[in-house]
Amino acid sequence: MPIDHSSDLVLLKSISEDSIVDALESRYKKDQIYSYIGTGQVLLAVNPFKLISNLYTPATLNKYKNKRPYENPPHVYALAEKAYKELKETHKPQCVLVSGESGAGKTENAKKIMEYITNVAVPPPLPGNKRKNKDKTQKDDAAASIKDKILRSNVLLEAFGNAKTLRNDNSSRFGKLMEILFDYGGGIVGGKVTSYLLEKIRVTQAKEGERTFHIFYQLCAACARGEYEELGLGTPDCYNYLLRTGEFKVNRMNDLNEFHATEQSMDAVGFTTEEKGSLFKVCAAILNLGNVFFVDAGSEGSDIHPDSNEAVAWVAFHLCMDEGILRHNLTHRQIDVNGEEFQKPLLPDDATRARDALAMSLYANAFSDIVTKLNKSMASTGAASSRIGILDIYGFEIFEENSMEQLHINYCNEKLQQLFIELTLRAEQEQYAKEGIKWEPVQYFDNEPVVKLIESKRPIGLLTLLDEESIMPRATDDTFAAKCEKHLKNNHFLPLGRTHFQIKHYAGDVVYANAGMLEKNKDQLNKNLTAMLQTDVQNDYIKSLYPRAEKSFKKPPTVSTQFKKQMNDLMDNLGQCNAHYVRTLKPNDSKRAGVYESDMVKNQVTYLGLKENVIVRRAGYAVRQNYDEFFQRYRLLSEDVWPFGTGDVVADCETILRSIGITSGYERGQTMIFLREPTTLFALEDARDDRL
Ligand code: ADP
Ligand code: MG
Repeated sequence: MPIDHSSDLVLLKSISEDSIVDALESRYKKDQIYSYIGTGQVLLAVNPFKLISNLYTPATLNKYKNKRPYENPPHVYALAEKAYKELKETHKPQCVLVSGESGAGKTENAKKIMEYITNVAVPPPLPGNKRKNKDKTQKDDAAASIKDKILRSNVLLEAFGNAKTLRNDNSSRFGKLMEILFDYGGGIVGGKVTSYLLEKIRVTQAKEGERTFHIFYQLCAACARGEYEELGLGTPDCYNYLLRTGEFKVNRMNDLNEFHATEQSMDAVGFTTEEKGSLFKVCAAILNLGNVFFVDAGSEGSDIHPDSNEAVAWVAFHLCMDEGILRHNLTHRQIDVNGEEFQKPLLPDDATRARDALAMSLYANAFSDIVTKLNKSMASTGAASSRIGILDIYGFEIFEENSMEQLHINYCNEKLQQLFIELTLRAEQEQYAKEGIKWEPVQYFDNEPVVKLIESKRPIGLLTLLDEESIMPRATDDTFAAKCEKHLKNNHFLPLGRTHFQIKHYAGDVVYANAGMLEKNKDQLNKNLTAMLQTDVQNDYIKSLYPRAEKSFKKPPTVSTQFKKQMNDLMDNLGQCNAHYVRTLKPNDSKRAGVYESDMVKNQVTYLGLKENVIVRRAGYAVRQNYDEFFQRYRLLSEDVWPFGTGDVVADCETILRSIGITSGYERGQTMIFLREPTTLFALEDARDDRL
């Protein structure tokens, strides 16, 4: 098939951010949303905000099977094929890193990769090949069911982890690494999900015009139809947590249908009827908790508002516990004075905070439990020899108000950018060195100082300071600010009074607010509520969400500590992999098809570092191929080497090049031939097509 020369940005006549933006635009206008930087190396995907006909049909998918990226137009399938092929050939773990800002298409592309891989992995039984071996059939069934679970896990996790935001109607509010596990032959034997940092504050404080997690609206819709009636749920506007945002519906999303899909996916991954019921009870308890208000009871602290009596009764019912105990624990907390325990009444504001903490904790623990269950059901059925990880994690965030959540998310993006630089750019240079090819080093933005500023222990970094302040008894947001100002001497950090600070991220400057960071970092449910969930709740499932910790004098790890550890584990994992990249771009902020706002794209091109990426690919050699592969593919171009060659494969490859008139612009490496201009590859391909 003829090759479209505009599909690889390495081929641009002049390289600048504007020329990249323009090239992507002219492709976008032709519904060509995919492009490469280096064919098969980095895939760019511009969100079309519409279904492009035939883009993801089974016929299209088949076209990419067993093909090299340059044999077809750019596509996420080509990248998935390449990852799978390299897994099968090298048995090395692979990963696909999908990045981009919210709403750019990360999750959609990640799902296409899973679809592709589950589709091509494990060859289906040959037609007419009668199965006598019962064992083998069972193994195939197990593999089929794992594939099914891998795909359905998306539905389940989206119901509980996605929400409508201003940027994206189906925004993932957690990061996800899906690892597909393979046996030595490339057959799927299992799957594993790791989730990162669920935005649980959305349970109680979704912003105006947004929604909280889909599952709440799904459950209300189901109840309205008489399903799970025992939950007693009304319409979404009955619940304060949902009502506050003023947003109940999502375009083109039917909550009832979605609920049925959620339920099916739960069945498929092995939730029992009882477990499903209990999980929904937790959700219903949360909705009712949001309707519990407190009134001032003078020196007595607070009482539950008389209008909230019904809501409290529902919460007690759903949590399967005594209402009196619940009422007490919502309005008191335990304090320890000289080893003695006292019950201290809470003022209405504190009681409200405790209520919200309870709602968030229930939800977050239920979400982790869903992930645990998923992993049990996808656990490897045989010895896994390798894996393909697909990382779909929140992109860089700059909001009007940025808090600890954004700090963590942006820190994560710094780490990923660092890994990207390390793996692509450095690996590239190393390969040249290893192959003995001359190479002019390229300057690129190194974000290590920012990463250090955030995560370093010594000199003390921002997250370490936050942790230190979080365990100081009298620390406040103010003392935290003062400490930052004193210790963080780094030109990527700028204190802004006592209330805010600015970090110069690789993707832009972000101003963070101190307010509430210490509390969020400690993230503790008070002792009364924790004990209540461990002992007073009579539902085994809910109880299981609160296992008793071993007696320990150590404070539980802070949110920052846990996240930092997760990030470092993730980087270790990805660092072992052969990496593939999908960089998604968002062409407009209004989710509209056909609208391409150049300024907005340019901004993303800048912080994704695409120009540098092109320069690096170009400064070196755009195409490289093993001598053997090159010979096999193009030997038909020269009678002098056809069919078996002369025994000197390097010389034979040169003979092939000369046969189409190429005498310069290539280098001989140790094991590979390097072509400076990608046009050389196109010429080879064209000549090959002519012969076939
Ligand atoms: P992200 O995960 O980056 O926040 P999503 O993958 O959820 O973004 O994409 C946001 C929305 O954009 C999707 O719900 C879908 O409507 C649309 N979209 C994204 N990618 C595509 C695509 N390749 N084809 C059609 N629509 C898409
Ligand atoms: Mg997403």
